Amino acid sequence: MNPPHRRPAAARRSANIGFVSLGCPKALVDSERILTTLRAEGYGISPSYEQADLVVVNTCGFIDAAIDESLQTIGEALEHNGRVIVTGCLGARPERILERHPHVLKVTGPHDYAGVLEAVHQHLPPPHDPFLDLVPPQGIRLTPRHYAYLKISEGCNNSCSFCIIPALRGRLASRRIDEVLAEAQRLVDAGVKELLVISQDTSAYGADIRYRGATWRGREYESRFMDLARALGTLGSWVRLHYVYPYPHVDEVIGLMADGQVLPYLDIPFQHGSPTVLKRMRRPAHAENVLERITQWRRGCPELTLRSTFIVGFPGETDAEFEELLQWLKAAQLDRVGCFKYSPVEGASANAIEGHVPPQVQQERYERFMECAAAISTERLQRRVGQRVRVLVDAVDEHGALARSAAEAPEIDGIVRIEDGAQLTPGEWAEVDICAADTYDLQARIAAP
Ligand code: SF4
Repeated sequence: MNPPHRRPAAARRSANIGFVSLGCPKALVDSERILTTLRAEGYGISPSYEQADLVVVNTCGFIDAAIDESLQTIGEALEHNGRVIVTGCLGARPERILERHPHVLKVTGPHDYAGVLEAVHQHLPPPHDPFLDLVPPQGIRLTPRHYAYLKISEGCNNSCSFCIIPALRGRLASRRIDEVLAEAQRLVDAGVKELLVISQDTSAYGADIRYRGATWRGREYESRFMDLARALGTLGSWVRLHYVYPYPHVDEVIGLMADGQVLPYLDIPFQHGSPTVLKRMRRPAHAENVLERITQWRRGCPELTLRSTFIVGFPGETDAEFEELLQWLKAAQLDRVGCFKYSPVEGASANAIEGHVPPQVQQERYERFMECAAAISTERLQRRVGQRVRVLVDAVDEHGALARSAAEAPEIDGIVRIEDGAQLTPGEWAEVDICAADTYDLQARIAAP
């Protein structure tokens, strides 16, 4: 007999869930929320398909390559485990999944947390155990302990012609500012040193809830971009802003960057430099004089790092429009740049635009664009040689430490390699002297005291 306060070992064994998270940081945050709830309910999280009792695949449906990867991953999970629940962006189009994988247990759509949990409960009942409620207050995170994504809203009110995210994830739905700040505080209390603010359109934050007011730590705030940036800036961690559009009110945040309250780093997906292409793309804020604004921002905050992504070979893009893009890039001197060749996404209105650019022309433009971006990056990184900067260490191996300064976001930008940093630990701050640079990365040595 077991003592009355203990449950038999077999019954206490948790039901194990395997989890695969694909796609962007927004999908990653969805995964973290689902995992946090599952863990709170007593499920174990399994690192392998074979040890799991069931696998959840959080899919991406942004472009065709992402859809292929999602479908392949579902196939892999079915092959190695056999019991698979699918969620995420591709889940908004269940017919795509079911025609290739008719034996998945359930398909739920993007940020349908309740649907995923219901499906898990149905196919693998929760192993209730009051002794198992060991979830930390900050929840389960898939990022290293020292940085975390902070999702401030779901969905998007824009209608960019190449994108189906509004159809997949719905219209803008902002979280109230006190909820966001409470989560940020919990993360910082748990050791997070860098908060990465994400959404589909960070500068539109709060518009859907009419910038609703709320009290946090005895102060009144509105649910709007500037109040959020200001309040996050009081938490003592790095605050990095992603997916910001160049609306006029973004100018104000440059002052907070110059004062050191948020990182002098803006991730703005410009997508193109030609006004006519931007108009066909139906991009938000496409009519703003962005080059002039960039000059002003840099005047207000000279250490500002600008990161962006672009699409080349958009339908109807002429040679002249592409040259305009190159000229724009040279004038803007962006620090970090990513580029995609346009690929049609089922359901996007851009598919109907005439003049699709042939693949070999897209490839040539892509190569020319990246060559130009690489030259700018090399030149701008060279200017940083000799600087002393504060970095956050991400990883350590026998060759030294990999770290990032304010100018590098995790996963998407280059790194600072600290040659003599083997004794550092991940999540530690360090002062380093930049001693060399290549096209995308920097070399550094620990600064002498
Ligand atoms: S801003 Fe445009 S590209 Fe971004 S999610 Fe909204 S519609 Fe899509």
